[in-house]
Amino acid sequence: MKKIGVPRGMLYYENFPFWKDYFNEIGYEIVVSKKTNKDILDNGILNSVDEACLPVKIIHGHVDYLKDKVDYIFVPRVVSLYKREYCCPKILGLPEMIKNSIEDLPEIIDTIFDLDKRSGLESGYRDVGKYLNVSNKESSKAYKKAYSQKEKYNDWIRAELLPMNYKFRPNNINILVLGHSYNVFDDYINMGILDKLSKRNINIYTAEDLSSEHIRKFSSYTKKRLFWTHGRRIVGAANYYIMNKEIDGIIFLSSFGCGLDSVLTHMVSRQSTIYEVPFMNLTLDEQTGEAGINTRLEAFLDMMKWRDKDKSYISTFR
Ligand code: SF4
Repeated sequence: MKKIGVPRGMLYYENFPFWKDYFNEIGYEIVVSKKTNKDILDNGILNSVDEACLPVKIIHGHVDYLKDKVDYIFVPRVVSLYKREYCCPKILGLPEMIKNSIEDLPEIIDTIFDLDKRSGLESGYRDVGKYLNVSNKESSKAYKKAYSQKEKYNDWIRAELLPMNYKFRPNNINILVLGHSYNVFDDYINMGILDKLSKRNINIYTAEDLSSEHIRKFSSYTKKRLFWTHGRRIVGAANYYIMNKEIDGIIFLSSFGCGLDSVLTHMVSRQSTIYEVPFMNLTLDEQTGEAGINTRLEAFLDMMKWRDKDKSYISTFR
């Protein structure tokens, strides 16, 4: 059976259960790169352009890990997922960056998914099928099977990516961990922040707990319509939890070198200041020492406890 490599980075965290079922259904074996580690990070830095953001560097490391283990590597060019909305330019250009930066690659499946121009994901999957000499009929059947149970995505997140008992501890602090899914769920680049919170009995909330309808509705409460789908997701989730008073604080995990995050952190922090929800931004970069993140986390949690006692004496913003 031929093998398709899936790098464990970026859009993997939004799509893997669907990709896996689609490729298995058309008769291909999936090989996922290892979890991010120091070698993958170092190879990613070595094999990518300096200007790239951290997640783009990391996915280069995952592709480099897979390149001599598989027949193809799946790096789709995801341009747009909704009408009049786009993904970040670095997501659009990802296949090109990879093909021009890493030597001796197997064939890259870089199918375009552009839902601003074409309706439905299915047409994109038909193009994937064409790469692999699979008929439109077979491809559509595999697509329908892969997407027949949307809830499998959340089941996967709960089973594989969130700590056990990540939520539902009554009378404990509730924190929204916000950011791109590749920052929230890659526990190497965020230095295990979900586990650190869970070990302190803190309930963890993420954007993935919400339906896309909720996210899109609450993202429209900002004055300016965001045309980045991933930005809408982050702002919509923040608005939902803040306005419904479901959380006691927000930790925003942003990426070093991300233009989008520089705007989104500002938007979310402003909203959290208005509603007096404690907010902390951690910018993830290439350094791997944990002391900085531990210190900031402790300081944030202490601030929340003091604030709870002294109410308005302590600022919500850190
Ligand atoms: S949204 Fe930010 S972190 Fe994600 S690929 Fe674009 S620049 Fe990088």
